[in-house]
Amino acid sequence: MNLSLEGRTYVVMGVANKRSIAWGIARSLHEAGARLIFTYASERFGKSVKELAGTLEGQESLFYECDVTNDEAIIHTFEQIQQDVGVIHGLAHCIAFANREELKGEFLNTSRDGFLTAHNISSYSLTAVARAAQPLMGEGGSILTMTYLGGEQVVENYNIMGVAKASLDASMKYLANDLGKHNIRVNAISAGPIRTLSAKGVSDFNKVIEEIERRAPLHRPVTQEEVGDTAYYLMSDLSRGVTGEVIHVDGGFSIVAY
Ligand code: NAD
Repeated sequence: MNLSLEGRTYVVMGVANKRSIAWGIARSLHEAGARLIFTYASERFGKSVKELAGTLEGQESLFYECDVTNDEAIIHTFEQIQQDVGVIHGLAHCIAFANREELKGEFLNTSRDGFLTAHNISSYSLTAVARAAQPLMGEGGSILTMTYLGGEQVVENYNIMGVAKASLDASMKYLANDLGKHNIRVNAISAGPIRTLSAKGVSDFNKVIEEIERRAPLHRPVTQEEVGDTAYYLMSDLSRGVTGEVIHVDGGFSIVAY
């Protein structure tokens, strides 16, 4: 089997800086020979994405601004990508947002606005993006999103993001069911906690890491590279029979009850 991604093109959404999980995914796909297309939320992130991508040797990457709260922007972005490259073979959706003040204390206090914002950006965007990307995946494809244990079980302070992740996980499965007939697979990676810009927003993040070191079977947090390599597996033909699945890359933490 050919494990190289040479000749294939993947869209990576959500690189904010070098700590972003999306950047770990981009590096793994790049090492496997893929051509990369980056999308970013706003010009604020555009500069750092372009600088980071500039450190990847070999193929030139392409860049598009795409705020996923805006349907027109999503449609326009994928129309542009279609014009510029034609076919894509996969997409990594690494996007989430919740108001910081709702990532502490009790879930009970979640505001309507906070609830909708978290679902809009962190969950609905996957469906909107998958719909826009589908016409570009005429050769089949693999769509990947990033989820977290807080969507399956209660994680203190994760609150509205946990509820949005549960919605994202369910969306991933419904999309897998719809898109399977087009030979497009849809899966999620449930990553253990990694220190990123988004993770900083969750209160007591350090305590979570300590808990991982104490109780996870591997007794250490996972790395961006480990998530990136699982993304490579999901984008490659090795995973050709896998769709609608949540793969935990968390050092085994999710299997431990006490
Ligand atoms: P990050 O802050 O580096 O990435 C989040 C990205 O979402 C940023 O690039 C940001 O610009 C983008 N984004 C936010 N609003 C957007 C919008 N309106 N339009 C387009 N993009 C927007 O943090 P990360 O931890 O790498 O997060 C990536 C994904 O991984 C998220 O879904 C997150 O929930 C998930 N995840 C993170 C962890 C962790 O511990 N870091 C664990 C499990 C899952």
